[in-house]
Amino acid sequence: MNIDVLIKKIKEYNPVTDEVLIRKAYEYAERKHKGQKRESGEDYIHHPLNVAYILAGMNLDDDTIAAALLHDVLEDTGATIEELNKLFGVTIANLVDGVTKITELKKKNFEEYHAESIRKVIMASARDIRVILIKLADKLHNMRTLDSFREEKRKRIAKEIIDIYAPIAYKLGIASIKWELEDLSFKHLEPEIYKELEHKIARSMKEREKEIEKIRFVLEKTLEEHKLKGVKVFGRPKHIYSIYRKMQKKNKSFEEIYDLTALRIITHTVKECYEAIGIIHSTWKPIPNQFDDYIAMPKSNMYQSLHTAVIGPTGHPVEIQLRTEEMDKVAEEGVAAHWKYKGVKGDSEFDQKLSWLRQMLDWQKGSKDYKEFMEMLSIDFFEDEIFTFTPKGMVVPLPKGATVLDFAYAIHSNIGDRSSGAKVNGKFVPLRTVLKNGDQIDIITSKTQRPSRDWLKIVTTSKASSKIKQYIRQNETIPVKRVGAVIEGRKGIVDWIIDVEGLKKPKIRLAQCCSPIPGESIVGYSTRSERVIIHKSGCGTILKKSATAGKKRVNAEWIDSEGALVEIKVDAVNRVGLFAEILNSIVSMQTQMKSAGAKPLNNNMVECWFTMESKGLQHLQTIITRIQGIRDVKKVYIGSLEEQGKAS
Ligand code: MN
Repeated sequence: MNIDVLIKKIKEYNPVTDEVLIRKAYEYAERKHKGQKRESGEDYIHHPLNVAYILAGMNLDDDTIAAALLHDVLEDTGATIEELNKLFGVTIANLVDGVTKITELKKKNFEEYHAESIRKVIMASARDIRVILIKLADKLHNMRTLDSFREEKRKRIAKEIIDIYAPIAYKLGIASIKWELEDLSFKHLEPEIYKELEHKIARSMKEREKEIEKIRFVLEKTLEEHKLKGVKVFGRPKHIYSIYRKMQKKNKSFEEIYDLTALRIITHTVKECYEAIGIIHSTWKPIPNQFDDYIAMPKSNMYQSLHTAVIGPTGHPVEIQLRTEEMDKVAEEGVAAHWKYKGVKGDSEFDQKLSWLRQMLDWQKGSKDYKEFMEMLSIDFFEDEIFTFTPKGMVVPLPKGATVLDFAYAIHSNIGDRSSGAKVNGKFVPLRTVLKNGDQIDIITSKTQRPSRDWLKIVTTSKASSKIKQYIRQNETIPVKRVGAVIEGRKGIVDWIIDVEGLKKPKIRLAQCCSPIPGESIVGYSTRSERVIIHKSGCGTILKKSATAGKKRVNAEWIDSEGALVEIKVDAVNRVGLFAEILNSIVSMQTQMKSAGAKPLNNNMVECWFTMESKGLQHLQTIITRIQGIRDVKKVYIGSLEEQGKAS
C-alpha cells in the first residue's frame, strides 16, 4: 500500500478528487509519524494509509480521506489542532479531533477514561457522521493487524470490538464493517471454535457452490420467463460469527444452520422486488412465517429488503433476500452510503434514521456516569425488532419484548413520564403489557403521573430506562416529600406555615434582620438540629459568609394554607386613629379577626398585633400590602419573631 495506490482507488469513483489535498495530508502525516513503528514492525504511516483505503472502498469524500490519513497525528505526534486548522481547514481538523482520544487521564480509572473516549467519538459523530466512519475504519485495520500483540491484549481489544464497535457499525447499518469486525474478534476470542467452523465451511464449499449455481440458474431463468430482465441473483456468503450465533440461539448444529442455501436478488426497482417475490412464491412453496417486508418497514438502521424462504428447485430450503441496488448499498454501508447519496444537511429522513445517535447524545446530557453509559451502549444492540404504530399510523420500531411504557418513551420522554396506560388495538391495557408486531398503541397520559423506580422493571429499551433514571436522579437531589412546619406564637397561637424541603420536623424562625412576609421569596438556613432560620432571598445578612457559616441552605416556600391562624405585627408612629385604620383595612377584606392589641413603645412608636384566620396566601398578601400603604406604618411582619417554632 502506498499513496499512489490510494489515489488510484479514489479516482475510480471520484475522478475530480483533490489530489493535492490528499497528497498534502499524506506527506504531513508521513513526516509527523516518521520513525514510529507499528507493533508489527511496519512504518506507522501504513496504518493511516490503510484506514484511508478502507474508506475509499466505501467511496467517501476527500475530507474524510484526508482526515483518515491524519487521524493519529494529534494523539501520537506533536501536531496540534491549530496547526491542522491552518493547514487543512476547520472541517478536516474537527474530523481528526473527533477521533482523537480524550487527554485528561488524571483522576480517572481506565474504564472511565475509556468510556469517556467512546462518548467523545459519539458526540463528535452526532455533529459529523464521518467521525464514526473514520473510527470504524481505524478499528477495522487495527483488528486486521492484531496478530502481533500478546494474547491477553488481543483478547481485551477483541472483546471491546465485539461489545462496542461492531454494534455501533450495526446500528449505523454498516454491515460490511460489522461482519468483518465480528469475525476478526471471534477469531481471537474463541480461536478453537473459529478454526473448527472455518474448516467445516471450507470442506463443504465445493458442494455448496454447485448447489447455489443450480438454484441460481433456475431462479434467473424463471424470472426472465416472467419478463423480469437484468435481475441479478447472487449466492450470499455467511459469516462465521453469524453462523456461530445462530447455532447458539437456535441450539442447532453447524450442518442444520449451514445447509440452508442463501441467495440475494438485486433488482432495478422496488416494484420488481415485489414482482419477483410474487413469482417465487407461486413457483416454489413458501415456508410459513419466513416472509418479512423490510421495504415497507425499514429497520431502524435503514436496512431494507424482502426476506423469504421457500422449498427450492432442488427440494431443499432456500433463504432469499430481495432488494434494489441502492438498498443493497445501504445494507452494506449504512450511513456511509446514505451520506454519499444525499449528504447530511437538510435531510430529515437521514436525521430520523440516525435516531440512535441522537438518542445517545440526548441521553449523555442527562448522566455523567460512565458505567450507565456503557450499559446503555450495549443494552439493545442486537435485539430483534418489531414494528408498532401510533394511532396516526406512524411506524415505531422497538426491540422484541418492549412494553407499552417503552413505546411511550419512544414517542417522547414527556409522554413516557406522564403515561398511565394505553389502548392497544382499541383495548385498555396496563403499562407493563408486552407489545407484538403490528400493534397500534394509543398512550393515555395523566397530569399527576410520575416515573417511579418500579418502572425500570417493566421497560426493556435503553431510551426508556435512561429517561426514567434521569427523572429519578433529578428528583432525588430535591426531595419529593415536603413537610410543612408551623411557627407557634408565644401565646400558643399558630402563626404561619412554611414549607422546608428535606426536613421532617423543622423548627422554624423568621429572621429578624429582614422579616420576610408571606409571598416574598425566601430561603432557609438550617443547623444540624433542624432549626431553620428563614430569610428573604436577597437578605443582606446571608450575603455575609459568617452569618451562614456551618449552616446548610435549604429551599423554603410559603404554603397557601386556608384556615391557618396568622399573627400580623405592625410597627408604626403612635398617632390617633392609626389602630382603627389598620383594623378596618383587615376587616374590610372579610377577614375573621381572632384578637388584636397594641402596646406603646419608646420614641413615640407603637407595636400592634392582629390575629386572624387566613384565607390563603393571596388574601394575606393583599392585607399586608394595604397595611403597608397606611400613613405612618413603618414595618409589617409576621408575629413571634423571637419565638422558636415548634414542628407540627
Ligand atoms: Mn489509528
